Amino acid sequence: MTQQILVTLDGTVHDANAPFLYADDLAAIRGDGVFETLLVRDGRTRRVAAHLDRMTRSLEMMALPGMDRDAWQQAIVVAEKEWSATAGNAEGWLRLVCSRGRESAPDAGPTSYVMVGPVGERVRHAREHGVSVITLDRGYSMDLAGRAPWQLIGAKTLSYATNMAAMRYAADQGHDDVIYVSSEGAVLEGPRSTVIAVRGKTLVTPPTEVGILPGTTQRAIFALAEDEGWTTRTEVLRRADLIAADSVWLVSSVTLAARVTALNDYVIPTSPNGDEFRDLVDRAISID
Ligand code: PLP
Repeated sequence: MTQQILVTLDGTVHDANAPFLYADDLAAIRGDGVFETLLVRDGRTRRVAAHLDRMTRSLEMMALPGMDRDAWQQAIVVAEKEWSATAGNAEGWLRLVCSRGRESAPDAGPTSYVMVGPVGERVRHAREHGVSVITLDRGYSMDLAGRAPWQLIGAKTLSYATNMAAMRYAADQGHDDVIYVSSEGAVLEGPRSTVIAVRGKTLVTPPTEVGILPGTTQRAIFALAEDEGWTTRTEVLRRADLIAADSVWLVSSVTLAARVTALNDYVIPTSPNGDEFRDLVDRAISID
């Protein structure tokens, strides 16, 4: 069994291999809750404030109780210390989970915990060798978020079953990852990542208004890039824009930057600025 750390919001460290959730927890039976995944690198959890900000927004969108920020921060510190004590400097993913709690005890409040586990081989491979991507129709229009707030577009909910199904579909077709497109053909995001296209010294990403999760990694990269003289833009992208770019990246908190090596049948040539971009990402996620 992989080594994992489990900490509840009161700072208690639990046995991560012992049963923990009630069978009627709404996380388990409805996916009714929110989560965040962060990177622990060199013993320090990265971009904590940005993730807590996004979680606050997700909780609001789902009408879940407001967040006790201090308690989450303290639980993260306990979890990262436990991780360092057991795994040394090994990189870890750190997950924050908050569900609506038990179906049979609606007044008992949310179920909240922090977990840490080892960054796996799939992540290392994607960082080093990139990912071959299939574009898949998400099946709805760019303006759905405004018209149908109950779809919770832009919230990071525990309901990732369709995202996982998209990843399995991609694997069946011989690809490693997915870029969703809207019914109009606009580039959206990956099931677990934000899309960034690099053209010369310009970085471009789709605007969150097209109905995607605001990425904390993309934000960190753009902030540092602007300080260092890059041009950054948010604009609606089409598949053809990705093909025309020097390089295309899927960025996210744990994998950081995976270069898109192929888009459907088109092989994207290696770009000369790949190492420069990876270095920018590594430095960006070190700034809090
Ligand atoms: N979009 C989706 C749907 C995601 O699930 C994720 C991360 O898991 C991202 C984008 C990237 O977000 P972040 O950079 O904050 O990890």
